[in-house]
Amino acid sequence: MSDQPFGRSRRDFMRIAVTAGSTAALPWLKDAQAQTPAGANAPATPVNAANPAAATATGQAASQLATPHPAKGTQLILLGTKGGPTPSDLRAAPSNVLVVDGQPYVVDCGNGVALQLTKAGIKLPGLRDIFLTHHHSDHNADLGNLVFLAWATGLHTPVNLYGPPRITRMIDDFVDMNEIDLEVRMREEGRPPLRPLINIHEFDGPRLVMEDERVKVTSMLVDHYTIKPAFAYRFETRDRTVVFSGDTTYYPPLAEFAKGADVLVHEVMYLPALQKLMKTVDNAPTLLDHLVKSHTSTEQVGKIAAAAGVKTLVLSHFVPGGDPAITDEMWAADARQHFAGEIIVGKDLQVI
Ligand SMILES: [Zn+2]
Ligand SMILES: [Zn+2]
Repeated sequence: MSDQPFGRSRRDFMRIAVTAGSTAALPWLKDAQAQTPAGANAPATPVNAANPAAATATGQAASQLATPHPAKGTQLILLGTKGGPTPSDLRAAPSNVLVVDGQPYVVDCGNGVALQLTKAGIKLPGLRDIFLTHHHSDHNADLGNLVFLAWATGLHTPVNLYGPPRITRMIDDFVDMNEIDLEVRMREEGRPPLRPLINIHEFDGPRLVMEDERVKVTSMLVDHYTIKPAFAYRFETRDRTVVFSGDTTYYPPLAEFAKGADVLVHEVMYLPALQKLMKTVDNAPTLLDHLVKSHTSTEQVGKIAAAAGVKTLVLSHFVPGGDPAITDEMWAADARQHFAGEIIVGKDLQVI
C-alpha cells in the first residue's frame, strides 16, 4: 500500500487528521453557533458572510451562493435535480426549497438534502415545514436524516412533516434506529427529545395542506403509475405562485392545478437517451414501460406548461440525470415546440 494516501505525504495526512480531530471535538457547538435558529421573522444571513469558503467550493456554488435569501419575497432554490435513486456526480437527488420572507419550506428529501440545504445557505435549525411528494427513495431517503441532522445542529422548535401515509412509521422507526446517538446527545449535549418536536400530517388526496402567514399550500393527486398517492404541490405566497409537479406521467389535469402560476417545476425525461440506454440492459421492455408510465417526456412537459399558462417552466428531476451528453438545449428543445414562455433547465443550487 502506498504511503501517500489520497496523494498526500504521510506527514501531511497525519497533520490533517489531527487538525480535523481537534476542531471536531464539539462539532455541534461550532455549528450551533454558526447556525443559530433563524426566528420566523429573522432576516436570513447572506451565506457568503457566514462562510466565505463554502462559496468558493465550486464555480456553480459560488455564483448561486452570492445571492442572499431576501428578508421579503419568495425565492426558489433547486437543491437536487436528478431523477432516480442512483447517486451521480452531475446532479444531486431530488429536493427543492422555497424561501418565503426568509423562512424555508422544503419539498422532498432525496439523499444529501441536508448538505444541499447547507450549501444553499439555509440554516437547518430554522426548518419548520417539510413536504414529501411520494414514497420513492429518491424523494424520501433522507427525510429522517434531515430532521435528525437539523436536531443535531441545534433545532429545538417543532417541525411539521406533510405527505402520504407511512411517514409516521418511517419516523418512529428512524428514531428507534438512532436511539444510541439520540440518547447520548440528550444526556451529554443537553438536546431536547427529538420525537416530540416532529408533527406529522399524513393525507391521501387533494386538500389544503397548510396555510400560515406567508404561504398557502394545496395538493393534487398526480399519476405516478403504481406509486399511490403521489402529489403535486401548489405554493401561493404574496408575490409568487410556484407549483411542483412531483413525479408524474403526462397528466393534463396538472395543467389545471398549475393554472396561472409564475413558476412550474416539472419533472422530465429524455426519451432518445432512454431508448439508447435500453439497448444495454436485460430488462429493457419492462424498464422502458415503467418509465413511460411513470414520467413525462420533454415534449409532453411543454404541453402541460402551455395549457397551464405559466410564466416560467423549470425542468428538473432529469431522467436520465447522469448523462453529460444531453445538453441544456436537448432538454429544452421539444418543450419549446409547445411552450412559448421562459424555460429554465434546472441546475443544483440554482436560485430562481
Ligand atoms: Zn423521482
Ligand atoms: Zn417517483
